[in-house]
Amino acid sequence: MNILVCIKQVPGTSKVEVDPVTGVLKRDGIDSKMNPYDLYALETALKIRESEGGTVKVLSMGPNQALSVIKEAYTMGADEGTLLSDRKFGGADVLATSYTIAQGVKKMGDFELIICGKQTTDGDTAQVGSEMAEWLKIPHVANVKNIVNVEDSTITVEMDMPESIETVKIAYPCLITVDKGIFEPRLPSYRKKLSTKDREIKILSLKDFDDKDEKNYGLNGSPTQVERIFPPEVNNDREMWTGSSSELSGKMGEKLKELKFI
Ligand SMILES: Cc1cc2nc3c(=O)[nH]c(=O)nc-3n(C[C@H](O)[C@H](O)[C@H](O)COP(=O)(O)OP(=O)(O)OC[C@H]3O[C@@H](n4cnc5c(N)ncnc54)[C@H](O)[C@@H]3O)c2cc1C
Repeated sequence: MNILVCIKQVPGTSKVEVDPVTGVLKRDGIDSKMNPYDLYALETALKIRESEGGTVKVLSMGPNQALSVIKEAYTMGADEGTLLSDRKFGGADVLATSYTIAQGVKKMGDFELIICGKQTTDGDTAQVGSEMAEWLKIPHVANVKNIVNVEDSTITVEMDMPESIETVKIAYPCLITVDKGIFEPRLPSYRKKLSTKDREIKILSLKDFDDKDEKNYGLNGSPTQVERIFPPEVNNDREMWTGSSSELSGKMGEKLKELKFI
């Protein structure tokens, strides 16, 4: 089975500053790592390859520094990796990101199964996988917590709904986004690190895509406009009250009215 896993490089720390002028995260010089949910996506693909055979390719979209997450995927067992990288992809919102990745997927070959993480720890929208599937016109299931059965032309999965677990059978080609805990991600292998150190990583840019219209990529292709990004204000003001429970509850009611919570 040909499986594609989408992996994103995210900041490895929660102490990321926001550029006050552009409102964009200052990613230069900060530690980066593979999005934790994508480790689960990759592990799921490797487990399916172990039982069914086939190949596991990985794809990342980002600047050149994202090559490191593809190398990391190689040390876990991925067979091939591609980076989608072009200045014209910069500043993409979810719509433009999912469109760009879908264009890249079309250039990478045919896949029975595409696996994404459920969400990222930076953008955190949990929308890229589903939107990609819509662009590719393939069925998709989100929040997959368990692979029930892998058959020749279908896969059966359990989807975590807020109030229930739904079992779904979908035909290939299809896309799933997986939740953490589906499998325990394996540790990178030092032996694989040595054996894959010269393995090629393909780089695709806008000129390689079928749709070369710059209007559909990066900031140009992003209908979402971020007006302002700022760290949440920290307020450590506190008051200590003493009194009986009826005095305190009355005072609490007055305070909540004053603050317009009620
Ligand atoms: C107006 C606007 C401007 C923005 N500008 C910037 C900017 O300048 N710089 C910037 O870094 N971000 C920017 N962002 C954030 C950026 O849009 C999101 O990070 C991006 O769309 C991916 O969404 P997400 O992280 O929420 O992914 P989710 O939907 O939470 O991710 C789900 C899964 O999709 C896959 N996936 C997601 N992104 C990638 C990727 N890049 N490569 C491979 N797989 C992926 C992974 O498998 C992941 O687990 C901007 C957002 C908006 C709205």
